[in-house]
Amino acid sequence: METTLAIIKPDAFLKGNVGAIIGMIEGNGFKINALKLLKLCKHEAEGFYYVHKEKPFFKDLINFMTSGPIIVMVLKKNKAIEEWRKLMGATDPKNAEKGTIRNLYGTNIEKNAVHGSDSKENALYEISYFFPKIALI
Ligand code: GDP
Repeated sequence: METTLAIIKPDAFLKGNVGAIIGMIEGNGFKINALKLLKLCKHEAEGFYYVHKEKPFFKDLINFMTSGPIIVMVLKKNKAIEEWRKLMGATDPKNAEKGTIRNLYGTNIEKNAVHGSDSKENALYEISYFFPKIALI
């Protein structure tokens, strides 16, 4: 079993797609090990996305991720990192495979409904960023 960090982003939250997305998560065999509702401040969003700090879209991404509430979750499944990225679909919803979350609920390359860790190393960083006490659960 493996764990990964998933986020339901502000666009999906504000459109009322939280229930549908969580339904897809559970329907696809993920266990939700931890979950919380947050509204990030600029400092918290910058810390989470520090790997992107040199990217041209960094400022827009921070503005977007602080624009409304988010749901952060730790998901558990066999090959959870790869499986969750598969269920999310490609970064740009217009390239996302039919039936994936970004295909169904994403708006554009920025407002793409969900986040998922892209490696074991990043999953560890991202889980401990939002759930520092997870090892105790
Ligand atoms: P992901 O791993 O599929 O989420 O994609 P990346 O790690 O490449 O990018 C992180 C997040 O930054 C994406 O999920 C988008 O919300 C945002 N993003 C990526 N590319 C762009 C872009 O070209 N423009 C803007 N405005 N946002 C982007």
